[in-house]
Amino acid sequence: MLRLIRDGPSMVRTSVVFFNTMLGDDSGSTRDVRASNMNVGKSGILSVVATPIGNLGDLSPRAQQVLRDATVIAAEDTRHSRPLLQHFGIATPLTALHEHNERAAVASLIAKLQAGEDVALISDAGTPLISDPGFRLVRAAREAGIDVSPVPGACAAIAALSVAGLPSDRFVFEGFLPAKAAARRARLRELAGETRTLVVYESSHRIAESCVDLRDALGAEREARLLRELTKVHETCLGATLGEIAKRVESDPEQRLGECVLVIAGRGEEADAKLAEGRRAYALLRAELAPAQAAKLAAAITGAPRKALYEP
Ligand code: SAM
Repeated sequence: MLRLIRDGPSMVRTSVVFFNTMLGDDSGSTRDVRASNMNVGKSGILSVVATPIGNLGDLSPRAQQVLRDATVIAAEDTRHSRPLLQHFGIATPLTALHEHNERAAVASLIAKLQAGEDVALISDAGTPLISDPGFRLVRAAREAGIDVSPVPGACAAIAALSVAGLPSDRFVFEGFLPAKAAARRARLRELAGETRTLVVYESSHRIAESCVDLRDALGAEREARLLRELTKVHETCLGATLGEIAKRVESDPEQRLGECVLVIAGRGEEADAKLAEGRRAYALLRAELAPAQAAKLAAAITGAPRKALYEP
């Protein structure tokens, strides 16, 4: 605290808000954010508000207050968000902001903000902009000099990473893999050498195919977790290698239900050496053989994942 206060005026404000919050005084947090910036008396604030990914208890008191105080809430799907807001007795008007109307909706929301109205942005679940709409609005607000303030909360990627038990000091958020098999496999070839932990979103109807492609591209031995239905009644964590996860998802229909996140260990040193060896073998064999055959043989000789070697 004291160290922050020495860091300059804006940090003083941050420290005061933090201190008040620690004391349980969470009133007026929007006002504090407004007072800390250059925009006093000009535009409203765009608050980017995280909503629960399953458990309603994860909507923080501050999120509820900001949503209640906003002039309008921009929501990905107003029909989806209305029950959530009703549950908390929030009667703020809703307006739609999704990928099909983003351009027009952004112009209208920026006009409201410039007129001094406070706008809250939410998505169907979790943190807006994280594999969800909102980027254009935040970008336009920043470009217009409007204050954008986060109200952090649930995010499936971070929730999954926090419980996976895989290295979390460095990680890569990959979002959704491409839906088409060829594009997905090409992307996975690019990711095969990644040494940081990978976090991948997937939908229930593609999880089986993606697990097979991940196993083939990154190797059956790679450590991974399949986290499903986080914060909900049927929350599960399947911890195993990619080979075992692919097998389990294929044979057990329950593992294909609900929402899921895959957390996959980065490539280790041993796998590094195998891949380098595999690529050398592939290059030599490729001079004599077709790509598929060269990859198959190079993988069998070196133990490197076949799909990481194959280059069409
Ligand atoms: N913005 C959201 C966030 O902050 O996590 C993500 C939205 S994205 C459209 C939806 C994907 O997030 C799902 O397909 C799934 O991969 C993941 N997801 C959302 N809720 C989840 C949950 N409760 N358990 C596991 N994964 C979840």
